[in-house]
Amino acid sequence: MASQAHNPFKIAQQQLDEAAKMLGLDAGTHAALREPMREMHVSLPVRMDNGAVRVFKGFRVQYNDARGPTKGGIRFHPDETIDTVRALAAWMTWKTSVVDIPLGGSKGGIICNPKEMSPGELERLSRQYIRQVGRILGLEKDCPAPDVYTTPQIMAWMMDEFYWQKGYNDFGMITGKPLPLGGSRGRNDATARGGVYCVREASKAIGLDPCKSSYAIQGFGNAGQYAATLMKEILGCGKLVAVSDSRGGVTNPGGINAEEIVKYKLDTGKVEGFPGTKPITNEALLELDVDILFPAALEHCITAANAGNVKARIIAELSNGPTTPEADVILYKRGAYVIPDFLCNAGGVTVSYFEMVQNAYNYYWELPLVHKRLDEKMTSAFQAVHKMREQQKVHTRLAAYLVAVQRVAEAMKLRGWV
Ligand code: GLU
Repeated sequence: MASQAHNPFKIAQQQLDEAAKMLGLDAGTHAALREPMREMHVSLPVRMDNGAVRVFKGFRVQYNDARGPTKGGIRFHPDETIDTVRALAAWMTWKTSVVDIPLGGSKGGIICNPKEMSPGELERLSRQYIRQVGRILGLEKDCPAPDVYTTPQIMAWMMDEFYWQKGYNDFGMITGKPLPLGGSRGRNDATARGGVYCVREASKAIGLDPCKSSYAIQGFGNAGQYAATLMKEILGCGKLVAVSDSRGGVTNPGGINAEEIVKYKLDTGKVEGFPGTKPITNEALLELDVDILFPAALEHCITAANAGNVKARIIAELSNGPTTPEADVILYKRGAYVIPDFLCNAGGVTVSYFEMVQNAYNYYWELPLVHKRLDEKMTSAFQAVHKMREQQKVHTRLAAYLVAVQRVAEAMKLRGWV
C-alpha cells in the first residue's frame, strides 16, 4: 500500500502544500499541519488457535484535534504501514472539516491478514489493541470506527474491552457499532449514501441525466456494494455495467442487476462468475466508457500512467486516496469531475458523528431523520466545494482542500497554537 513511488503520506503532504500556498498560510501554521500531532505504536501479543503467541504491530495516529476530538477508523490489513495510517489520519482531518462536524482527524491500523484469522483470533487481537490504545481513546478524546476489513462485530468487542477498563459503558468511544449496542440507524450504508448524494449534486452541476447514465464500481466491499444498489434507490435509475473486487471483475454493457450481484458476492465471496457477465480486469474496468466511475478499493489506482485513459465524466471516490496528484491534473484538464475522497466518502464519518451525539444523550433517531440530516450535511459540503472550484478555477480536490484546511487553520489560530 505504501510503495516508495506512491507513499500516501508524501502525497497527503504534497496536496496540503498546494492548498497552503493558495491560501497564503503562514509558515508556522503550514508546518504544524504537515505532521500528525500525536501517534502511538504498539505491539500486540495474541494467543493464536494453535496455542502459540504471535505479536502483531499496530498504530493510532491523532493527526489534528483543533476542531474537536479526533475521529477515524481502524484498518486490519497485511500491507498496513505507519505512513498509510498518517495519510489517512490527515485525510480524516480534512474530511471532518469539509463536512463541518466538530471533530478532528485520526486513524488506526494493525498489520494482519484477517482473511487468515479465526473469529476467536480476531476477537483477541481487537481486545488487545484496546488494552494498549484505550488510554488515548474516548468520546471526548479520540473515537475509532470501522474501515478496511473491520466490522461492527469488531467495534462491539473493542467497545466491550473499553467497558472493562473503565468500569462503565461509554458507547460513544467508538462508532459503527451493532444497533443493540448503541449503533446508529443508517451507519451501515452511510459512506455509499453520502457518495451517491454527491453524485446527484455533481450530475446537476455538469448537466448529466443520472437516469441515462452508466456506472462501474471498482472494489466491492461495504461502500461498493451499497453504492451499487443506492444509485437506483436514490437516483431512480442508472445502469450498472461493471463491478470488480480484489480477485477480478465482471462486465455486461447491457446492465447488471445490482441486488443480485450483491447477493452473489455475499454468498460466494467474489463477483467472478456472476451469470450473464464477461470477465474484466480491475485495470480495464477503470478505463471503461462509462458516465460514472466509483473507485471503492484501495489507494493509488488512478495514476499518471492510466489517468489519460479514464473516460468517466464523474469519478466518485468512495475509497481513500485512489487518485495521485499527477492524475488529478490530467483528469481536470480532460474535463472529468472528480468528487474527491474526503468529500465523497464523508457520509460514513458524518453518521458516525450522529452516532456519537445519540450515544452522548442516550436517545436514538429514526432512520428518516438520519437520512435527512446526512443529505443536508453532504449537500451543503458539496455546494461549498463546488463554489470554491468555480471561483478559483481549480480541480475539485484542491477546492475541497481550500475549504477544509482554512477551517482547521482558523481553529488553530483562535486557540493560539500558531
Ligand atoms: N473509516 C471511515 C472513513 O474513512 C469512517 C470513519 C468514522 O466513521 O469515524 O471515513
